[in-house]
Amino acid sequence: MRFYSTRNSSLTFDPATAILRSLPEDNGLFMPEQIPLMPEGFFADIRSMQLPEIAYEVAVRYFSPEIPAEVIRAIVDDAVNFPVPVKHIHDDTYTLELFHGPTLAFKDMGARFMARLMSWLNRNEEEKLTVLVATSGDTGSAVASGFFGVDGIEVVILYPSGKVSPLQEKQLTTNGGNIRALEIQGSFDDCQRIVKTAFLDKDLNKRYRLTSANSINIARLIPQSFYYMDALRQLPEGSIPPVFVVPSGNFGNLTAGLLAYRSGMPASGFIAATNRNDAVVRYLSGEDYQPRDTIATISNAMDVGNPSNFVRLLDLYGNDRSLMQKALQARTFSDEATRSAMRQCYSQYDYVLDPHAAVGWLAWEQLQSAFQPGTPGVILETAHPVKFSEVVEDTLGVKPEIPESLRSIMNREKQATLLSSDYAEFLSWMMG
Ligand SMILES: *Cc1c(COP(=O)(O)O)cnc(C)c1O
Repeated sequence: MRFYSTRNSSLTFDPATAILRSLPEDNGLFMPEQIPLMPEGFFADIRSMQLPEIAYEVAVRYFSPEIPAEVIRAIVDDAVNFPVPVKHIHDDTYTLELFHGPTLAFKDMGARFMARLMSWLNRNEEEKLTVLVATSGDTGSAVASGFFGVDGIEVVILYPSGKVSPLQEKQLTTNGGNIRALEIQGSFDDCQRIVKTAFLDKDLNKRYRLTSANSINIARLIPQSFYYMDALRQLPEGSIPPVFVVPSGNFGNLTAGLLAYRSGMPASGFIAATNRNDAVVRYLSGEDYQPRDTIATISNAMDVGNPSNFVRLLDLYGNDRSLMQKALQARTFSDEATRSAMRQCYSQYDYVLDPHAAVGWLAWEQLQSAFQPGTPGVILETAHPVKFSEVVEDTLGVKPEIPESLRSIMNREKQATLLSSDYAEFLSWMMG
């Protein structure tokens, strides 16, 4: 498989280049030259498969022969090591719980897979690969955990001091080994500026082989299509193809679902659910695409004013809005509505939604009647409620319990280097 840039489809790249570079030089995003069609019978027989097998069958079609099938098998077995259970909430409403990975968010799937793929692609290089990543919380913890102990790769994480939750800070700073954390006295934007400057810094690039683990990397996107297919397998036998409801920020998760759909996966539709950051919702309702400044909300992992994967959506539908509207509906909701959905779901069904899935819940409630009666709605539950403990406690009056697997982390010692937001200080730390 070769990958092209959304800005120039005539120039294509092998998987190694697309993955290790992350972004094409023309600042587009990489897309697969052909979205592989799964063989006939694959979806009819999906009940006989398990998630790692499904993942292998998809990944091998994207990355082999450049990456040998047995390597893909090993990467899948190592990376896809947690379940993605479908939970029945009531009637035709289900959630797909994507939070059973090590950092309790769906980003674990992509990060674990990408880390192992990068390590293999770098196997013959003498010099280690250094992954630089700026984070406001969730991405950094998934990347830290995904790359922890992976051969030939060092990770440097920059996070804004005092602006990540206590649990997130532990997840960022207690790995040790090949993961180092820099606590920046500044904002997330300062962290991002330092990382961008670093990629352009000639001296630094002479000293290190730098790469990014940003969510726009195609190797993080493709694995996110695995679990849509796994959800099908778990719905009652004979179900109408489901509608997938995707709480969206940068629209990577949704794009992955649409890739799965293009691969032949049965679905009755896709719904994108956003908080007040609604540039894509407005585009789908007929307005011009108008990115705006980011608005802070309680579903803060979706606070994105200008979603990076919007160009991939345009590319998938050949810039034709009416085609995109046929596959995809979108709705936007306020924090107030989000909190009331959390309360309703908890009081009626005894199920705690995190604020992101609650936005999805609202979109499904609003749009369900547009589908044939009996169509299952699968709301992607993108993070464990404990990751947004303050909002959950404030809204429901209950404190979500930290799962066993994370309890020990709260007792580990934070290891981070405190730096100002001055690039020169970062540079001297790197060169020191
Ligand atoms: C990252 C994230 C999202 C948004 O996913 P995109 O792929 O950026 O649309 C939604 N919910 C949670 C909990 C996240 O961490």
